Amino acid sequence: MRLSKFFMPVLRDDPKEAEIVSHRLMLRCGMIRQETGGIYSWLPLGFRVLTKIMDIVREEQARAGGLEMLMPTIQPASLWRESGRYDDYGKEMLRITDRRDNELLYGPTNEEMITSIVKSSVQSYKDLPLNLYHIQWKFRDEIRPRFGVMRGREFLMKDGYSFDLTEEAGREAYNRMFVSYLRTFAAMGLKAIPMRAETGPIGGNESHEFLILAETGESGVFFDKAFLEKDWSGVDIDYDDAGAVAGVVKEFTSLYAATEDIHDPAAFEREVPEDRRVSGRGIEVGQIFFFGTKYSKPMGCAVQGPDGKEVYLQSGSYGIGVSRLVAGIIEASHDEAGIIWPQPVAPFDLGLINLRQGDAATDGACEKLYEELSNAGLDVLYDDRSDRAGEKFTRMDLIGLPWQVVIGPRGVKSGMAEVKNRATGEKTDVPFDTLTGLMLDKCTEVYA
Ligand code: ATP
Ligand code: MG
Repeated sequence: MRLSKFFMPVLRDDPKEAEIVSHRLMLRCGMIRQETGGIYSWLPLGFRVLTKIMDIVREEQARAGGLEMLMPTIQPASLWRESGRYDDYGKEMLRITDRRDNELLYGPTNEEMITSIVKSSVQSYKDLPLNLYHIQWKFRDEIRPRFGVMRGREFLMKDGYSFDLTEEAGREAYNRMFVSYLRTFAAMGLKAIPMRAETGPIGGNESHEFLILAETGESGVFFDKAFLEKDWSGVDIDYDDAGAVAGVVKEFTSLYAATEDIHDPAAFEREVPEDRRVSGRGIEVGQIFFFGTKYSKPMGCAVQGPDGKEVYLQSGSYGIGVSRLVAGIIEASHDEAGIIWPQPVAPFDLGLINLRQGDAATDGACEKLYEELSNAGLDVLYDDRSDRAGEKFTRMDLIGLPWQVVIGPRGVKSGMAEVKNRATGEKTDVPFDTLTGLMLDKCTEVYA
């Protein structure tokens, strides 16, 4: 992509309304624009990151047996009356009446709808297990939408739902999702710590939240330092091996970790040696619930079991805050100069900077390398604008692509580009003829 043809309205100054760094940087880079309180447009740069996050979520869901589908944003109120949640949900639910006076709502979550879909189409235990998910916009009329997309009113969520015949199978489905979440967040370059959690309006008796550490997080967290020393990326798993999956869940849940809502100071002191007790703040990027028959019973979602008897299905639900993650990753990965994207979610793999746009030799070298890098399958943002070099460097640091390839008249003479690693600041001179191979290696290295 040529910057001259891209739409990336970078702001020169810090927007006054932004209280936290991710919100400030997202506005400054031209990733999002607020339309009204808690509702945002995603501009091309921001949308690229959102898409990368969705891709990673999809890949791991598929591996763990999740089937993707798409349910609507608008739901009939009648569904929510069946489960009894229509009145309980309160003012957070956006209620809508259509021209025929039908009562509708903008979905804050989809337990009722998916239960009704499964109820109408699944008759026998032979059709189970099922694990269905979608990535769809949700609306919750939060009292205090703030921090940009971190706590929006309209936000993008991946929500999945499992349906099993027995409680044991249901808990195995929960375990698979638990492990898939560890792997999903690790694939984005994050360590999301699973913490025992309250179940809130979703209900049920077992739940874990996944939190990434950040000073600006809204939740107080208490956990064993051993979490930080664990190698997340090493969680390699065969999802068909229920014992192995349960083993990973046990490994991660046997260490103390809790949010302030359910933190137990006495247990913390008992279970964790003093030098390993860590407290801080975290951002909730996902939550999973096992609630058994909480929805299937009131909504009559049952199948015929092997003995011919009707059995209510055992279910769980599994959410990931896709749009919140964009901000969460920035909170976890930035410096004074701007964002530092982990490679797997970066909007482009690298930025190519032409230091002397208009100089025939420099333009020629840049064009050639741009073509080579692109043909190799890399996503390149080519700064082909005629701005001053300083401005180009500042902008490229701000938007935080993992690698910068800088080419100026001097380098063209010696056949060298300067390659800068955005995270470490390290710079190396690389001959033009080995540049594409090197960048291909760097950008596709498995995230460690
Ligand atoms: P919170 O406690 O932050 O309000 P929640 O527990 O109500 O979130 P869930 O029902 O667990 O939210 O939704 C699944 C995920 O969706 C959350 O883990 C979070 O990452 C994301 N999410 C929830 N509410 C919002 C919001 N208002 N804006 C952006 N993302 C959100
Ligand atoms: Mg939650």
